[in-house]
Amino acid sequence: MVQCAVWNCNSSNNGKDCQLSFFRFPQDKVLQRAWKSFCRREDNFNPATSFICLLHFKSEDIENRMQFEMGKSRELTKKEKINHV
Ligand SMILES: [Zn+2]
Repeated sequence: MVQCAVWNCNSSNNGKDCQLSFFRFPQDKVLQRAWKSFCRREDNFNPATSFICLLHFKSEDIENRMQFEMGKSRELTKKEKINHV
């Protein structure tokens, strides 16, 4: 089961929210830290096994990330920031 790492977010792929997309934490340490602080969690969870759900991204962020993951873009641009809650 995939569960969103963001504090107070109940999204998971188990049950009625199964249509929701989840994004793996980036490999990049700086981005990883940014994502982690975005989650506002007290516990020191492992980013390598964590996900953040679609709800915390803006559509242009997702588009860029998709292209990156599909190999169309070699690097993530500055849009790869989470600034939407
Ligand atoms: Zn979430």
